[in-house]
Amino acid sequence: MLTFKLIYSDGYFLPIGAHVFPAEKYKRIHDQLLAYEIAAPSDFLVPHLATDQDVLLVHTPQYVEKLKTGALSPREEMELEVPYSPELVRAFWLAAGGSILAADHALNDGVAFNIGGGFHHAFPDHGEGFCVINDVAIAIRRMQRDGRIRTAMTVDCDVHQGNGTAAIFSGARSPGDPLPSASSSRLKTTPESKTGGAHAGDVFTISLHQENNYPAWKPPSSIDVNLPDGIGDDDYLAWLDNALSSGLRQFDPELLCYIAGADPYREDQLGGLSLTIDGLKRRDELVFRVARARGIPAMVTYAGGYARNVEDTVAIHCNTVIAAKEIFAGKA
Ligand SMILES: [Zn+2]
Repeated sequence: MLTFKLIYSDGYFLPIGAHVFPAEKYKRIHDQLLAYEIAAPSDFLVPHLATDQDVLLVHTPQYVEKLKTGALSPREEMELEVPYSPELVRAFWLAAGGSILAADHALNDGVAFNIGGGFHHAFPDHGEGFCVINDVAIAIRRMQRDGRIRTAMTVDCDVHQGNGTAAIFSGARSPGDPLPSASSSRLKTTPESKTGGAHAGDVFTISLHQENNYPAWKPPSSIDVNLPDGIGDDDYLAWLDNALSSGLRQFDPELLCYIAGADPYREDQLGGLSLTIDGLKRRDELVFRVARARGIPAMVTYAGGYARNVEDTVAIHCNTVIAAKEIFAGKA
């Protein structure tokens, strides 16, 4: 039995037909965690649907209305890159409910997982890139509304930049700050983010991503680390370490939302970085070690993962639970 909770429902399955997004991954992760005895049935909690009021903490009434009545324009539906259906909307409301529940349990237990979620490309007024609503942002705003937290930090390690999250929490960056960037010859140097002024927003956003990838327009996060193509484990981990140190020098979060995308993997079909499965587990360990050392509760969501073999995506996501188990049990 784990010391933390895993939030999961069979309703996380996305009814999108044959698609590069492996909609069945959530159930496979759930089943594998049990089969390998990484978790026990009693470690899992079933989420409720987020309420419309929860969703409206982040999204515009117009967009929510369109989703609930099937009134998206063809262009809006095309931008989602997944086929619209009422069942699809329900799956996303459920994922948001799962992230709310995971945030709630993280604040009690130090860490908690949504075995789903991480839909970081959803903006207040539209969805895109397989993301209909932004479950992580909804969970943060709900915890704030309930008076559970004042501040939060997102640590987005999906290979794609967290454009929706960045836009939702924009204003969280002092303009003109020099930011870590791995896109230049400074790759091997230590980036320093020298902030002059106070942090403006209540949510600090960090995104480590491949620069030469979707989304083309990357609204600024508090810290964006634009990684070059093909970067491997050691360089990636050094940049992550730098970004976390820099972010936590500038900002004191009461909740850390880790968006643990599996798509920086070298075999990913939609990613161009070269991390190994072992490197991705070391990435998870680094995030958890930092959160634990500073006493910051960590809420985990899964975001993308498009490995040629879906087994690899499932293994990477299961490893994130193993990493939390090891770090929060104090073994590492
Ligand atoms: Zn991604």
